[in-house]
Amino acid sequence: MASVQVIGAGPSGSVAALSALMHNHNVSVYEEHSCAGIPMNCSGLISKEGLESLNDFVDYKKHVKNKMRGAIIDCAGAKLFVDSKKDIAYVIDRASFDSKLAQKAEDEGAKFHYGKRVSPPFFKGHIIGADGPNSSVASHFNFPNISRFVGVSQSTVNYDGSMPDHVRVFLSNEKFPGFFAWLIPQNEEYAEVGAGCVLPGNPNHSLNHLSKYLGIEFPETRTHSIIPVSRREQTFISSPARNIVLVGDAAGHVKSTTGGGVVFGTQCARLAGKHIESPQKYERMCREIHGKDLDAHYHLHTTLGKMSDDSLRALGSLASAFRIEEFLQRDGNMDRPMRMLGPNLLLHPFRALMNK
Ligand SMILES: Cc1cc2nc3c(=O)[nH]c(=O)nc-3n(C[C@H](O)[C@H](O)[C@H](O)COP(=O)(O)OP(=O)(O)OC[C@H]3O[C@@H](n4cnc5c(N)ncnc54)[C@H](O)[C@@H]3O)c2cc1C
Repeated sequence: MASVQVIGAGPSGSVAALSALMHNHNVSVYEEHSCAGIPMNCSGLISKEGLESLNDFVDYKKHVKNKMRGAIIDCAGAKLFVDSKKDIAYVIDRASFDSKLAQKAEDEGAKFHYGKRVSPPFFKGHIIGADGPNSSVASHFNFPNISRFVGVSQSTVNYDGSMPDHVRVFLSNEKFPGFFAWLIPQNEEYAEVGAGCVLPGNPNHSLNHLSKYLGIEFPETRTHSIIPVSRREQTFISSPARNIVLVGDAAGHVKSTTGGGVVFGTQCARLAGKHIESPQKYERMCREIHGKDLDAHYHLHTTLGKMSDDSLRALGSLASAFRIEEFLQRDGNMDRPMRMLGPNLLLHPFRALMNK
């Protein structure tokens, strides 16, 4: 039985703790805030499949605020309507979800230390750095840097209640350079609006652009945060004395296209807890199981981020002409783009032309 210190009680930290407990380790979790889940800056939009992958730890249905079955993607004015006609994702209450995951880890035997910001020198024993985008574990142990971050600004607005089960995504590199903006209905009355841009851009300007574009006055009360959108080249250090691994946002286990990090972060966290005594294996398994999908998100993010608004509009119109919405409705996967590659994607343009 090894002694494992998890730094950070976000979803990655709690899942890493649960996984380490399942592998008979002695686990302590350190969280700088007085509880898990607060403060929270997350839209909480998570795929149904991703949430179901956590069913052994948390009943996500108890934390659902809204159900999502489609998206309206606005490519600099050219719109795509995707309606899966079934729930594909949920807006969950991240604060209660995170708190429940932490509680589960505590119930299973992890010792939680709240209100404790861990700083160097770190304790003896293995360390799982689940301490988010500004990871002090990563800085202290000189892990390779995360090279790309986006800044995001969010607010909550009254909402006309139309299509409450569709997320709206706005692409425009003039308004949201390198990233995008969104409107996520929370219920029929309120929606979360947000906008981001690759740093060092100013996400507040991006949110102002969205406000103008939608013709809605946004409140001045806004939250600002950063999201890593590239991965660290190395996520473990192994020494005779102890092993150190990074997970979740600390490692850059995030979908670069959307900034969503809960699904990949928690799935890598399971591997971290399991392989803390052989961290090379942890990194190899993360690469083998998740690397191709994370790379695909990164390549799509950087490709779209370089396009002019005219090109984005042309792409949107072309995608619509080839009925890409129908393909996405049938074969879309918001986490795993690699699963969309296959005969259906190759044949889709021909089918679309034949059906014209
Ligand atoms: C505006 C916004 C919207 C988002 N929307 C979505 C979404 O819709 N869907 C989705 O999947 N993802 C979304 N994300 C991303 C998602 O929130 C993160 O990927 C996820 O929270 C990462 O989990 P984590 O456990 O790795 O890190 P975190 O959730 O950041 O948790 C890290 C924890 O470590 C603690 N900590 C940090 N340093 C220390 C220290 N030195 N000592 C002790 N404790 C420490 C922090 O207090 C924190 O509790 C969004 C992010 C932002 C900013």
